Amino acid sequence: MSNGLILVASDSIIGLHNERVCELLHLEPGDVAIGMPLAEFLANAGQRLGWDDARVKRVLDNHYMWMSQEDEMRLEHHYDDGTILRICCRPMPDGGAILTYDDVSEERAAQAEMTHLAYHDALTGLPNRRSFCEAVDRLLATTPQVGVLMLDLDRFKAVNDTLGHAVGDALLVQSAARLRETCRDNDLIFRLGGDELAILLQPKKRDDGDELGQRIVAAFSTPFMVDGHTINIGCSAGYAVSGADENSGVLMQKADLALYCAKAQGRNCAVRYETGMMEKAIARQRIEADLIRGLENGEFELHYQPLYLLPDQKLAGFEALIRWNHPERGRVAPLDFVPLAEENGMITKIGSWVLDEACRQAALWPGHLHVAVNISPVQMRSPGLVTEVLQALQTHGVEPNRLELELTETAMVEDGQQIAQTLQTLREIGVRIAMDDFGTGYSSLAHLRDFKLDRIKIDRSFINIEDDAVGALAVVRAVTSMANDLSIQTTAEGVETDEQLTRLIALGCNTAQGYFLGKPMDSATATAIVHEWSETNVVPMLRSSGSMNRFGLTEA
Ligand code: C2E
Ligand code: MG
Ligand code: MG
Repeated sequence: MSNGLILVASDSIIGLHNERVCELLHLEPGDVAIGMPLAEFLANAGQRLGWDDARVKRVLDNHYMWMSQEDEMRLEHHYDDGTILRICCRPMPDGGAILTYDDVSEERAAQAEMTHLAYHDALTGLPNRRSFCEAVDRLLATTPQVGVLMLDLDRFKAVNDTLGHAVGDALLVQSAARLRETCRDNDLIFRLGGDELAILLQPKKRDDGDELGQRIVAAFSTPFMVDGHTINIGCSAGYAVSGADENSGVLMQKADLALYCAKAQGRNCAVRYETGMMEKAIARQRIEADLIRGLENGEFELHYQPLYLLPDQKLAGFEALIRWNHPERGRVAPLDFVPLAEENGMITKIGSWVLDEACRQAALWPGHLHVAVNISPVQMRSPGLVTEVLQALQTHGVEPNRLELELTETAMVEDGQQIAQTLQTLREIGVRIAMDDFGTGYSSLAHLRDFKLDRIKIDRSFINIEDDAVGALAVVRAVTSMANDLSIQTTAEGVETDEQLTRLIALGCNTAQGYFLGKPMDSATATAIVHEWSETNVVPMLRSSGSMNRFGLTEA
């Protein structure tokens, strides 16, 4: 029997006991015996435990009280050596009682361990998100000002992906240690999950949190050494202080928004929450909802701008350019919503619609005309891109070589290796790749070598120029001749005058696009033009006369 047991008769004399009681209460022989009064037994036990007379009396009175009650009484007694005994007193109908003693120390320790695990992160030993939320609530209820610093490790994912999770884990442990060194005694450090950490502080002055944020950012600019690897990460921080009657949800949201701004500002910096950030975030959310609705309601439309082969000026194809027919705002230009859709990720859904719609349209045109689709850097990184391209081509029965994807240099450079892989797969399928707006990004010759391209589109800032812009002309000449050597087509963007066109022909540019040759037009017009052309065999010329071209096309 693992329980200690003492039977007390109605006259408070011990009627029975077992050996286990002596072990549990560290009794010596003679401390407990059949026929011994309860008072004497408790006095003996008290002596072993170092109780004074008053305490012994209190304990005895308690026993008398428990025995006089009808219900069973249970209590847990914590001994100085850490042992926890559960003592149970079950009164008997005749006035006596059964006392049982149970050692629950291990059970309680296991429970404490479970609680610790529920509130701490096993890897770093830091309190976790649950602790954080409860701590913020607790502090807000008792302290006039609470500061929250949200932290995010920069480039942590890359470390995990390239060096493996064991190195990632070790890096997190070192990061926690570095935070402990950087923070002050009263600052509480938490790991919220992944590479997200947070500091809870009680600011004494307004810029307490900003200073701490900056110190942390500075501390993380020193490289880490893990398993012989020198690892450069960084840290972004967002700080918010509680305002009047603020709840924990709002405070954490503000710190999160400040962190979001820190990341948007290029990471590796600390940003404090400023009034207006919340409103901006709400506006961003509204746009997101708007974009979702727009896609569901068919508010997006593609316009098509013709591209002409030079020097004979035959129609080569069209570039698809998205328009948003917003029910309240009217027609919205891509530059006013594409960056927002990139920010909130909606561009992948919109882009997938664009691919499908452009292929649907191209299927209505003669087979030698291509359609060019702009692909955002965000789409380029999305794993579904290749499947979406294949699906659009197959659904509408369009030959892959009639689809050209336009990417900016920025899109190609970010995450270079993965992008190069995607580009190669696309080219293997037979889809063509164009570099858009060449000259405005990195304009690195290495990109022309590393990424196999079918076309370079020279940005209109080099085309749409005054006659004496010698520098711009020199750029066009150099790019054209280099592209010729590499068997890459060139397109001049933004041709607005006859003179510009003549000059491009002289420079040996392959293709031209611009208001002078044709503005973007709706799909019905584009299709009408190509059919008129194939029926009459007359090359369609869409040249502007004044603001209107031959088809009366002026864009809304
Ligand atoms: P982009 O791909 O460089 O497209 C050319 C832009 O220049 C178009 O503006 C076109 O209307 C304009 N343009 C063409 N010829 C001339 C000219 O002679 N003079 C002047 N001043 N402008 C000319 P748009 O349609 O406003 O598109 C702007 C940008 O939005 C595009 O630049 C492209 O980067 C992006 N975009 C358009 N559609 C999409 C799309 O479906 N998906 C994505 N991700 N981006 C798109
Ligand atoms: Mg383009
Ligand atoms: Mg362009």
